[in-house]
Amino acid sequence: MDFSEDDNAEALRDLLRRFLDKEVPPQLAARWDQEDRIPRENLIRLAELGVCGLTVPEEYGGMGRDVLGMVTTIRELARRSVALAGLYIMNACYGSLNISESGTEEQKQRLLPGLCAGKILFAYGLSEPDVGADLPSVKTRAERRGDTVIINGYKRWCSGAAIADYIYMLVRSGEPEARYKNLSLVLVPPGTPGVTLQSIGTMGMHGMPTNDVILEDVEVPFANVVGGEASWNRAWSLLAGPTLEAEKLEVPALALGIAEAAVAEAWEYSQQRKQFGGPICGMQSIRHMLADAQTKLAACRLMLVQAAWRVHTGKPSAVETSMAKLFVCDSARDIVLSCQQVLGAYGYAHGFAMERYVRDVLVMPIFGGSSAIQKNNIANLMRLPRE
Ligand SMILES: Cc1cc2nc3c(=O)[nH]c(=O)nc-3n(C[C@H](O)[C@H](O)[C@H](O)COP(=O)(O)OP(=O)(O)OC[C@H]3O[C@@H](n4cnc5c(N)ncnc54)[C@H](O)[C@@H]3O)c2cc1C
Repeated sequence: MDFSEDDNAEALRDLLRRFLDKEVPPQLAARWDQEDRIPRENLIRLAELGVCGLTVPEEYGGMGRDVLGMVTTIRELARRSVALAGLYIMNACYGSLNISESGTEEQKQRLLPGLCAGKILFAYGLSEPDVGADLPSVKTRAERRGDTVIINGYKRWCSGAAIADYIYMLVRSGEPEARYKNLSLVLVPPGTPGVTLQSIGTMGMHGMPTNDVILEDVEVPFANVVGGEASWNRAWSLLAGPTLEAEKLEVPALALGIAEAAVAEAWEYSQQRKQFGGPICGMQSIRHMLADAQTKLAACRLMLVQAAWRVHTGKPSAVETSMAKLFVCDSARDIVLSCQQVLGAYGYAHGFAMERYVRDVLVMPIFGGSSAIQKNNIANLMRLPRE
């Protein structure tokens, strides 16, 4: 079976590269990192290419669900700027993938056209101070009162909440004893009275700052419960449903884009930098680091494209997506750290993109389901007995 990318992926990549070269020069990407902020108008310009419709069915103005296209887009954007790739994920993945799959008809009609146009952003409100990998233990409470929902609690690591239109929030909507039951997903506009945001500083992923979200008697209409009546208290089946496999590929796509950019920079630098009378690319230690990096990149591309292709074509893909999350994120971290060595001291200095790649790539094996969690998934899904 041939997993090389097809003409569509090639054409999409060309389109995105032309856009990035024109609209997002490297200095602008560096500025978004330094200022820890990206204007959301950039997404509206990106949407004019049609890429925000890659996760939306045609009847709602999209281009049909194209997981390969979504992954290609995240990867290409991340080569230039994780902030821009983050905006895209907030729109096309957190927003469109979920609403297309799990929204009521009213929610689809209300939200999908604006999402396609790049005008709506979702942030994810899953984690809490005491809730990391163990998501079914969320404590933020939602109580139904007639046709409204009242929310009280505390969310943590809510990236992009300050610029989002909605937080896609996992809440406990019944008794906590039933761990996987009594969970719901509610769309909470961050500007609703009773919502307070507090910024959390992080070493990387600048431009997509993350936040604590404090909720005190926050009232939203029941119409904002994702999936409506049928999904109240049944959010676990939405979170663990068909969108999960596509969502597992967002972070490895980011990681691969960063690693590709780091290898391109180190490859070029090794030919310019001269020591002991010649370019350092002539030295065996540098040649081996770069050959290893290219080899790992090639393996990452295959893992990611194969997993995306399986999701795209509706084949069973839970093992492959977990393997791609694990392998691509861990390998991307190793690749970027070796590329930093190629640049020597300059790989550690502000003003060189390499130090940003290092800061950005380090979180890839941590969020979106850590490497340890993916190993658990793989062993469990492949039915490795415990005794
Ligand atoms: C920059 C950044 C942005 C983020 N953005 C968001 C966001 O937008 N929305 C959101 O909801 N969350 C977000 N997160 C949170 C992220 O998804 C969590 O970090 C992740 O869920 C893991 O939770 P934790 O870090 O609290 O680790 P914990 O779950 O506390 O785990 C700590 C360590 O124990 C290991 N571990 C935990 N359980 C197991 C197990 N069963 N088996 C083996 N090892 C285990 C983990 O791998 C890890 O090494 C973000 C995090 C960061 C750093």
